[in-house]
Amino acid sequence: MKSKALVIYEKNGPFVLDEIELEAPRAGEVLVRIAAAGLCHTDLLAREKGEETAFNDIPLPMVLGHEGSGVVAEVGPDVDYCSVGDHVVLSYNHCEVCAGCHSGVTSTCEEFVPLNFCGAQRGGGTRLYKDGQPVSTFFGQSSFAHYAITNSSNTIVIPKDVPVELFGPFGCGIQTGAGAVFYKLHPIPGDSIAVFGCGSVGLSALLAAKACGCTTIIAVDVFDSKLELARTLGATHTVNVRGCDADREIHKIIKGGVNYAAETTGNGKVLSQSLNCLAPGGTTCVIGTGSREVTFDIDLLRSERHVVGVIEGSLDPHIQIPRLIELYKHGFFPIEKFTAFYDMKDMDKALEATKNGTVIKAVIRMN
Ligand SMILES: [Zn+2]
Ligand SMILES: [Zn+2]
Repeated sequence: MKSKALVIYEKNGPFVLDEIELEAPRAGEVLVRIAAAGLCHTDLLAREKGEETAFNDIPLPMVLGHEGSGVVAEVGPDVDYCSVGDHVVLSYNHCEVCAGCHSGVTSTCEEFVPLNFCGAQRGGGTRLYKDGQPVSTFFGQSSFAHYAITNSSNTIVIPKDVPVELFGPFGCGIQTGAGAVFYKLHPIPGDSIAVFGCGSVGLSALLAAKACGCTTIIAVDVFDSKLELARTLGATHTVNVRGCDADREIHKIIKGGVNYAAETTGNGKVLSQSLNCLAPGGTTCVIGTGSREVTFDIDLLRSERHVVGVIEGSLDPHIQIPRLIELYKHGFFPIEKFTAFYDMKDMDKALEATKNGTVIKAVIRMN
């Protein structure tokens, strides 16, 4: 069948609205009519195809998009995990059989990189073509398109009483930030936390901290507008890090430091600050990607401080996403407050608004 898609034809090239061909779903696969897909930092990293990254190996052309949501339009043979008409959120591919997958932390799947970043579907090869030539797939979904082929590992059925187009970002950014707090940091009521970076991942960490009963929530960013939004979502304090050291400011706010820090910026200097602001026994969760050059006093760790890492929220999305939607229904995750929808043809506007910080989570609607 034919499908409209935003295709990347060259390294760091534009998103070209084009028509591609899709194979019918093979055994175990389904065809999803995409309602919308969030724009995530990882899409932009993949488009850049940096030479030292896994993305360098994705053959071009490719269709990005890994925060899709929509409705199951067709099921292939041997599919028992969903039915035509089901509403679904699409997340990352995993093999479902390795030790990491069996542990429940499916983001530690041994096949995570090849299954998500190498242009092929689980089971090998792509299902997308342009003029008979293969087009690479991304995260086993490629959801910047009218239709996508997905499988049991990355297709999560959600309830029908919530707007399906809103929840694609739960498949990556939202579950990453929220899961870091819920399943890695485990704060208890009365704890304190500093959240570095108020993008969608940071704000999701903040909302999770609030849901856990944290009573001191310090949001750190360089944009005053994002800090104002963080306050409306539950930040008790804000620090604009432009021109000051965030760790010093945090020690002024809370004597002795915070119990937890969530670092979402991927900036080495900021990661160092997130360690320096911890109280003895505290933990920093490294969420942002790219933090390479980090300097901190190793003596910090002698006072029982911890550094942990997280990817995709550290829990099987089939467990995590329905729980997040339940929290949304109860008012804990008002993500519409930081979501802006764009038509497919306006991808450039979405990119620009994301880059200049006027929009936190751009979501592309596939009309
Ligand atoms: Zn696995
Ligand atoms: Zn992502």
